[in-house]
Amino acid sequence: MRLFNTLTNKVEELILHEAGVVKMYTCGPTVYHFAHIGNLRTYIAEDVLEKSLKYLGYRVERVMNITDVGHLVGDGDNGEDKISMAAKREHKSSKEIAEYYTNCFFDDCDKLNIKRPKVVSKATDNIDEYIKIITKLLDDGYAYISGGNVYFDTSKFPKYYELSGRKIEDLLVAVRDDIELDKFKKNPFDFGLWFTNSKFDNQELQWDSPWGRGYPGWHIECSGIAIKYLGEYLDIHCGAEDAVFPHHTNEIAQSESYLGHDWCNMWVHFGFLNDKNGKMSKSKGEFLTVSLLEEKGFDPLAYRYLCLNSYYHNQLTFSYDILDGAQKAYEKLKNKVKLLDEVGYLQEDSFEKYRELFKKEIEDDLNTPNMLTLIYDVLKDDTVNSYTKYKIIESFDCVLSLSLFENEKCVVGDDLEDYIQNKIEERLRAKKEKNFKLADMIRDELLTKGIKLIDGRDGTTYKLL
Ligand SMILES: [Zn+2]
Repeated sequence: MRLFNTLTNKVEELILHEAGVVKMYTCGPTVYHFAHIGNLRTYIAEDVLEKSLKYLGYRVERVMNITDVGHLVGDGDNGEDKISMAAKREHKSSKEIAEYYTNCFFDDCDKLNIKRPKVVSKATDNIDEYIKIITKLLDDGYAYISGGNVYFDTSKFPKYYELSGRKIEDLLVAVRDDIELDKFKKNPFDFGLWFTNSKFDNQELQWDSPWGRGYPGWHIECSGIAIKYLGEYLDIHCGAEDAVFPHHTNEIAQSESYLGHDWCNMWVHFGFLNDKNGKMSKSKGEFLTVSLLEEKGFDPLAYRYLCLNSYYHNQLTFSYDILDGAQKAYEKLKNKVKLLDEVGYLQEDSFEKYRELFKKEIEDDLNTPNMLTLIYDVLKDDTVNSYTKYKIIESFDCVLSLSLFENEKCVVGDDLEDYIQNKIEERLRAKKEKNFKLADMIRDELLTKGIKLIDGRDGTTYKLL
């Protein structure tokens, strides 16, 4: 599997720490507002990446955080906590704000067929973990206390500028507007690990710590949650491209200083959503949400289709006309697959051939536009019967999740092993009862999901095709 690695700025082979297992961390939302569809593009891409890895047969252990404290308005640790700000705006408690917008986020995910990662952890549920890491960083001289707050000392981490690939002088110019120089910091890009001297006396969420009552910085939350749930090594870390600096840069600095070794070798970033004026965001222009698209008569899955039709690392241009085009193409596709036969004879060779082609597109830097094109190739292929086409496309849609069929059945990943063993036992029972028709049906059903049963002297085993 090859992916575009921001760390080296090129497409590279994914190298796993443990064969067959992918440990994947994906930054979650800061839940202070509705999600912009530009942000949701990242979650769609991560969803496809996770499902793709499972399609290739990997076990994926994926973790995502929910930021419900500590994310300040400015990346230079200036401004107010975004959750506190929203609480004031809406006359609610911070907890109510976080809960409400977390639910809204997952509602949007459901509409876009984005599966929830197995582990989703709130920043406020892991305070002990951050305190443990910060204590060690202070003990080892990577952090310092100043003005009552704890800061990471970027001068102690020589690789600090590696991920962004930029020099300190360039960064100072590039992010000048965002960095309000905090007088307590030794170096301009030092960042807060723990704040006790909140600039806002009414910060609602606070915890006791060895450095006084306060709250964690945003960056330490992702390191803490990733290390707690996935251990000392990550295989893939994902996020939107604007997280490269400072968020992911800071995550690397504190995690590697804490662990004493490299942490993650594959950093995958997803491009912005642009309109003709540049990056679309919460603060600029019309505030685009999934609900707004629905109000305007768009199917949220047409947006998913649009995202899949472009390469994840590139920026994607959005306009209602473009979305309209995507919706028309998506509907046309659904109408075509609707005509396929749901019963029939499976041409095993064609089925396997197209699954292999699909896997190749996954392995070649998650080429979702080509994965979509393959659906059209299948539909056009005169040598493949209608039922086999149905089964091939159904299998693709376990990854693409475009709800192309009404009664789609997908089994990938975590539950696969249990599922197969249950089916093998069910088939064995059928054979014992001399119900060979049922036994064959179970075998064929598994085959259509890419699972080939092999009957041997010592029982039945299986192979993933
Ligand atoms: Zn993060």
